[in-house]
Amino acid sequence: MNYCDWYKHIGGSTNSKHCLGRAVDIEVPGISNIELATWIRDNLDYDKLILECYRQGEPRSGWVHVGLAQSHKDNRNIALTYSNRVYSQGLVA
Ligand SMILES: [Zn+2]
Repeated sequence: MNYCDWYKHIGGSTNSKHCLGRAVDIEVPGISNIELATWIRDNLDYDKLILECYRQGEPRSGWVHVGLAQSHKDNRNIALTYSNRVYSQGLVA
């Protein structure tokens, strides 16, 4: 089972940017995921940035999703937080 099939298998969106090769979920050892997401928000261009499943006070919890539009000019720079199956605007720790 490749990543895309696995992702659909666990209920992920069938039009996920992951399946199109335009999104990654990342973590950086030694840097909390809220710090990482904040740095990306403030320094890089992206379509969608999502701080996923992060729990305040647990720096290594969750991960950071970074998605890109097909064309650089179409990147919307949307930052969201996903927690308890709910998306919130911005990065909320
Ligand atoms: Zn992701």
